[in-house]
Formats: sequence, structure tokens, C-alpha cells
Amino acid sequence: MPTPVTDPSVIEGYLTDASNIHGHAEGLVRPTSTEEVSAILRYCQANNIAVTVSAGRTSTTAAAVPQGGWVLSMERLNTIHHIGQDTAQADGGVFLGAFQTEIEAAGRFFPPDPTSRHECSLGAAIACNASGARSFRYGPTRPWVLGLTVVLPNGEVMEVKRGDSVPDDWPVVDWVEPHVKTAAGYAPTRDAVDFFIGQEGTLGIITRATVRLTDLPAEIMGVLAYFPSRASLLRFVDVARTAARADRGGAVSPRCLEYYDSNCLELAAKRVGGVPSDAVCALFCEQEVQPSHEEDGHMAAWWEALDEAGALADDTLIATDTATREMLLSLRHAIPAGVNEEVVANGMPKVGTDLAVPDSALPAIMDAYEAAPMRHVLFGHIGDNHLHLNLLPKNEGELARARAFYGELVKTTISLGGTVSAEHGIGKLKTAYLADMVGPEVIARFRALKQRLDPAWILGRGTMLTQ
Ligand SMILES: Cc1cc2nc3c(=O)[nH]c(=O)nc-3n(C[C@H](O)[C@H](O)[C@H](O)COP(=O)(O)OP(=O)(O)OC[C@H]3O[C@@H](n4cnc5c(N)ncnc54)[C@H](O)[C@@H]3O)c2cc1C
Repeated sequence: MPTPVTDPSVIEGYLTDASNIHGHAEGLVRPTSTEEVSAILRYCQANNIAVTVSAGRTSTTAAAVPQGGWVLSMERLNTIHHIGQDTAQADGGVFLGAFQTEIEAAGRFFPPDPTSRHECSLGAAIACNASGARSFRYGPTRPWVLGLTVVLPNGEVMEVKRGDSVPDDWPVVDWVEPHVKTAAGYAPTRDAVDFFIGQEGTLGIITRATVRLTDLPAEIMGVLAYFPSRASLLRFVDVARTAARADRGGAVSPRCLEYYDSNCLELAAKRVGGVPSDAVCALFCEQEVQPSHEEDGHMAAWWEALDEAGALADDTLIATDTATREMLLSLRHAIPAGVNEEVVANGMPKVGTDLAVPDSALPAIMDAYEAAPMRHVLFGHIGDNHLHLNLLPKNEGELARARAFYGELVKTTISLGGTVSAEHGIGKLKTAYLADMVGPEVIARFRALKQRLDPAWILGRGTMLTQ
């Protein structure tokens, strides 16, 4: 077993993540193999030492923040083992973006695309069931995972592949997940691979993963459409979503549908040209060009659907060449840059949501977001009814109001049949929201499962469930 680093100045670099919450730890271990991970966990279980797995530390929910004990960094478990035609295999600590770059260089495609993919790890993307814009077409990370090497809290190493069942004596976590994109709570499954997806480093450490690959799309069409009203945009979303679900190879079958409200457009207009003054909101979409339609077939179908929905046709841009697509993307990039600038100027953290609701509840949750009692921007994955409301408080009073408003939105989301986390996970910040969503009986089942696998609760203490 590697000797833990105890120098506080080294450990200091591992005490926080993107949540900006600060934790504490007495030791840091950086294993280089599954065997070392196993030895560490055996030792920690025997000595009741808490272990927090830490990878890219991009968690926005403090999942990677230790609350004492040791930090187990995945940074030295970072080898890509194999890239083939249908599958690829890598260590859990490999950066997701680097893995995807290698896969695409080999002419294949691994779709999960969290915005943080160049800073986050493959193992954590699996542990948190990460997703991104193109999850609208490809789903989250879950369906792309074929096999895992997992080290259990007692140090036992498990090799699991799709179709394997978890041992009979592990409790069944029987509950009905909301019928939306979700990354909240243990998966109600006995499939041994699915079981370890979305557990946020509380049931096992993923040291190696085998994933499924698909065809790399030959050509992508980018669409930036402006709308004079939310109603016309929602008409288009409805048409495009229904078409995409009915026929994945159809002329209108977007892989992502990304929404921007008027506040986003105002921010963007300060940085990039071409934002029309009469636009109330906008959509950025991508369409993979299918051989059966070619570019012209897609273009014609998209123009028609946009026109029928009432988009601002003169300002809408559809592009297949890389230079114009990059230009469309510059609008997307201008928004986080603008938000960050305001956050710095305000000297207050932003408060961001990660809620998703069923299709039928989209207008209702948008009404709720738009009633925000302070400066805000609203953008995100509208195809999955998963919008990020960013509240931008300017002082302590507004920060308190933003947090209270977030709590109200959580209640509204639950009442609409939605999830308290669509992609960022529960971590340490949303355990109460998870409890509100699933209720005490399901929490008791989650706890029984945790207790069975990790009787001393050494792994990921404080994440998902409070002890
Ligand atoms: C700017 C920004 C954009 C983001 N965009 C997205 C997005 O689009 N979609 C999305 O889903 N998320 C997004 N996130 C959240 C975050 O990037 C993801 O949750 C990501 O999966 C975390 O990866 P990480 O390597 O940084 O993990 P860490 O933050 O280090 O850890 C996250 C959790 O995973 C556990 N963990 C880490 N490695 C392992 C392992 N090998 N085995 C078991 N458990 C492990 C940790 O213990 C912790 O509980 C974003 C974050 C930021 C800061």
C-alpha cells in the first residue's frame, strides 16, 4: 500500500472542488493500480478511516470534498488500455476529454459530453452518470458502459459486465425514478454495471471501465435560431423533439436542443454580433447529417419546421462548414464568459439549478424560473426539460433570497414529477433535496444498501446520504 502523504501543504490542493466548499483530510493516497486501491480500502476499513475518492474535482455539489480521513486521488490511474472498433477500455482516472480525443482519432465515437469533459475523469463521469448537451440523442453515460473493475469498501475487487447480477444477498433498492433525465439516488437495478453508475463514489471505486463506441458522425449541421416569443420556441421544440424520438435518422432529428433566454441574448450581444434586437429567446441545435438526407434534405426540413413554428427566419443561421459553426458556437461561449464576469463584479457566488421535469411540465417550470426575484440567466438542455437557472445575487441579502428561491424551485420540481438533479448529482449539498424527492422509505432502503456494502461508512462520507 502506498504510504499516505500527510504534509498539509500537499493535501491542501485536494480539499475543495467546483462547489468551493472547503473540507479537511489527514492523509492523501495516489494509488497506481487496482491492487493498491484494494490494499488502501482494506486498511482503511480495518482502521475506520474515511476515504473520499477525488478525480478532476469538478463536482459542483461538494462530492469530492473530504470531511476528514484520507483523500484517494485517481490521478495516477490514468492509462488508456485499448481502443477498438466497438469498445474501448481505460482507467478510471483518465480525463474524459483526452479519452474521447484518442477515440475520435481512431475514427470512433464515445458520446457522453459533460461541459467539463476536459477536466473531469472517466471514472467520475460513470460514478455520477454524467451527461451533456448531446445526451438528448445519446442518453447519459449509463448506456455506454459495458464493464467495470470496482473495488468495494472492504477492498474486494469485482469485475462486472453488462448482464451480470449483483450478489443475491445485497438488498434490492426498489424505487421508481422520475421519468426524466436524472442523476439522483442509487439506481433501482440488479444489473451489476448499472448498480455502480450514479453512486457518486459511495459504494465502490471504479478503477477501470470498458465502454461501447459508435460511429463518428461524418458531418454536423449547426443551427442558431432566434424566436420572437417563448411560445414559438416551445412549438419548435415540441416538433423537433417528437420528430427526433420517432425517427433517429429523420431529416429533423437533432442531437441537442439548447435554450437561451433574453438575458442570455443581452449578455451575448455585448460580445458577439448578429443578435437581433427583436429576439426574445434562441435555440442552438446540432443535426448529424444522415446519408439518406444529405445536407440539402436536412436544410429544407429544418427551414420548414422553423418557419412553421414562427422563428425569426431572416436571423436564423444554419451552417455545415466549420468556420460558420464556430461562429454559432461563439454565442454559446459568450454566455458563461458574461456570467462569470458578473459573478466576479458582484463578489457573490451564483446559485445554479440542475432540475429536470417531464415534457408536460416544461412551461410551468419555465414560468417558475422566470419569476426569479433577482438578476438571472436561464439556459440549457431544453430537449430534456433540463434548464440551468443561474441566479446572480449582488449582496448577502440577495444570496439568502436566491437560496430560498432555489428551495421553492425544488419543491415545484418534485410536485411536477421531476428530479432534484439531472446531471450534477447529489453530493453533500443536496442530500436533503434527495430525501424530499424520494421520501423516508426509499432513503431507508438506500441506507440499508450502503450499510450492507460499507458497514463502517468509510467511502464518500456525507455524500448522497448523511450518516
Ligand atoms: C464548469 C463545469 C461544467 C460541468 N458540466 C457538467 C455537465 O455538462 N454534465 C455533467 O453531468 N456534469 C457537469 N459538471 C459536473 C462534474 O464535472 C461531473 O459531475 C463530473 O463527472 C465530475 O468528474 P470529476 O473527475 O471532476 O470528479 P470529482 O469532482 O473529483 O468527483 C465527483 C464524485 O465522483 C466520485 N468519484 C470520482 N472518481 C471516482 C471513481 N473512479 N470511482 C468512484 N467514484 C469516483 C467522487 O468521490 C465524487 O463523489 C460540470 C462541472 C463544472 C465545474
